[in-house]
Amino acid sequence: MSDKAVSIKVEDKLYQNRYLVDAERPHIQIKDEALCASCTTRQCTVCCPAGCYEGAADKVVLTTDGCLECGTCRVICTTHRNVEWEYPRGGYGIQFKFG
Ligand code: SF4
Ligand code: SF4
Repeated sequence: MSDKAVSIKVEDKLYQNRYLVDAERPHIQIKDEALCASCTTRQCTVCCPAGCYEGAADKVVLTTDGCLECGTCRVICTTHRNVEWEYPRGGYGIQFKFG
């Protein structure tokens, strides 16, 4: 057996997950986009493990399609408490695959 370390990227592991997107009702929403425009810390853009938050000059764009439902963005937005967070409706959301 080889003693070489096997290197697996996070992106490769995330690719193994599957999602059923609820287009009619996103389970996470930014309450007030203007607050994100003036938010100087933007923790959400660096703490989301799935990269669902993307910062631009005058706004933050949230795309929930690849959300892992970890809840980090709900608790990390401490300055403005600007994230409305629910689990997806039954049957929607992530389907984790192990392996
Ligand atoms: S941390 Fe909160 S207020 Fe700041 S950009 Fe992210 S969602 Fe908006
Ligand atoms: S719940 Fe987790 S994976 Fe989903 S958007 Fe928030 S931080 Fe990202």
